Amino acid sequence: MDVKNKDQNKAEADITTHEANPYEIVKGLLKEAVTALGMEENIYHILKKPMRVLELSIPLRKDDGSIENYTGYRSQHIDILGPTKGGIRFHPNVSLDEVKALSIWMSLKAAILDLPFGGGKGGVIVDPESLSERELEKLSRAYIQKLAPLIGPQKDIPAPDVNTNPEVMGWMIDEFDKMRGYNIPGMLTGKPIIIGGSEGRLAATGRGVVLMIREAAKVLGIDLSQSTAAIQGFGNVGSMAAKYLDKMGVKVVAITDAHGGIYDENGLDIPELIKLRKQGEYASDYNNASSITNEEMFGLPVDVLVPAAIENQITKDTAPSIQAKILAEAANGPTTPEGDEILEKNDIFVIPDILCNAGGVTVSYFEWVQNSMNYYWKEKEINEKLEEQMMFGFESVLAMRKEKQCRMRDAAYMVGITHIVKALNARGWINDADLGEFTGHIQNEVMDD
Ligand code: NAD
Repeated sequence: MDVKNKDQNKAEADITTHEANPYEIVKGLLKEAVTALGMEENIYHILKKPMRVLELSIPLRKDDGSIENYTGYRSQHIDILGPTKGGIRFHPNVSLDEVKALSIWMSLKAAILDLPFGGGKGGVIVDPESLSERELEKLSRAYIQKLAPLIGPQKDIPAPDVNTNPEVMGWMIDEFDKMRGYNIPGMLTGKPIIIGGSEGRLAATGRGVVLMIREAAKVLGIDLSQSTAAIQGFGNVGSMAAKYLDKMGVKVVAITDAHGGIYDENGLDIPELIKLRKQGEYASDYNNASSITNEEMFGLPVDVLVPAAIENQITKDTAPSIQAKILAEAANGPTTPEGDEILEKNDIFVIPDILCNAGGVTVSYFEWVQNSMNYYWKEKEINEKLEEQMMFGFESVLAMRKEKQCRMRDAAYMVGITHIVKALNARGWINDADLGEFTGHIQNEVMDD
């Protein structure tokens, strides 16, 4: 199973390089966006904290008879647009602040793409590599048992994230259904297709990333069929992004993973690398290419750079060497604020994470809708709907960027906040004084009815 994939485990063990606290970063960006929209600080104070955060104690009897007590979390950011929604991460570096930040990013992603969800995120502080398969199943079941009173298809809907996958989702939903006494397929997404998962969900994030690259290339007048790309990370998202870039005629010349990197100026054999990944091999194990480090990869003269690995990779140290015209943030939080400033100065077109990797939550939404209908769409239909939704998000962010003359990241925050604020207003949480200069915008919309 994927959780046992050695590449992934090592990759996640490497998420130790946090040089910035993601919760502090997201709060800073929220505040700037609220100010830029002409809203009062009250809006920021509503959005900056998750509405509910749960800390779990999960004692687990290990195979050797000992008991280890794991700590888990769930953060539910805001539920005014719909139930909260977001993945569950198993990783030694999970922290309360990380989970809170990820839940806020989920709210913004859903809002940008006009999905009827708020943001949620969960995690357990654990190195899955240290567990047997049986222990991992017990931990997954125990986590969902503890969370059960606070989740459900109309409350909060988990999904896979780092080190969790459809198999883990299968254990979790089985545990939840047993507790409730009947099948509730919409209680989580990213589950195996046979028990209500959606076609196209596994590839959705990478597919969405490449759709966003296609749109960015149009804006910049870049012919992708004559372009090159480099990708950091060859897990679920990186490998799918590589697959669709390759299909689009982009030459993927470099890939790095947690173990090293490979480079071929004539383009790497992506189908072969994907085959190797399925066999549990690393991209960096591939023999028919030269080696490259992360640092060298960042500095390559490529058109498109795709960080699809971990947080805080584009920093004040790595950003200056980046020559790419498009930076597509497939990972969550790959760029630090200092890195961002350098990208802006160097006129690099950034597709921000809360837009770029939103394909996953979009198809999770489709999964939830299909579960509610108990009627299932074919993959073609899912992919068409995904494209429509991602295009909506891209165009909204681009329009905001033009209106405010700002970076794509700030525009994405502003689009997300605007959407949430309209719901806050419709529910009577905020008044005209809170809206500041934004008041007219809301009133016009109400009068248009
Ligand atoms: P994954 O565990 O499947 O893959 C991670 C990849 O990153 C691995 O190939 C690993 O070797 C590589 N990696 C780790 N550390 C590295 C380093 N220092 N240098 C180079 N490569 C390194 O994870 P994933 O599901 O592909 O997720 C990747 C990112 O995308 C994460 O930030 C995740 O939060 C984000 N994301 C994922 C989804 C999804 O649907 N899976 C959705 C939205 C966002």
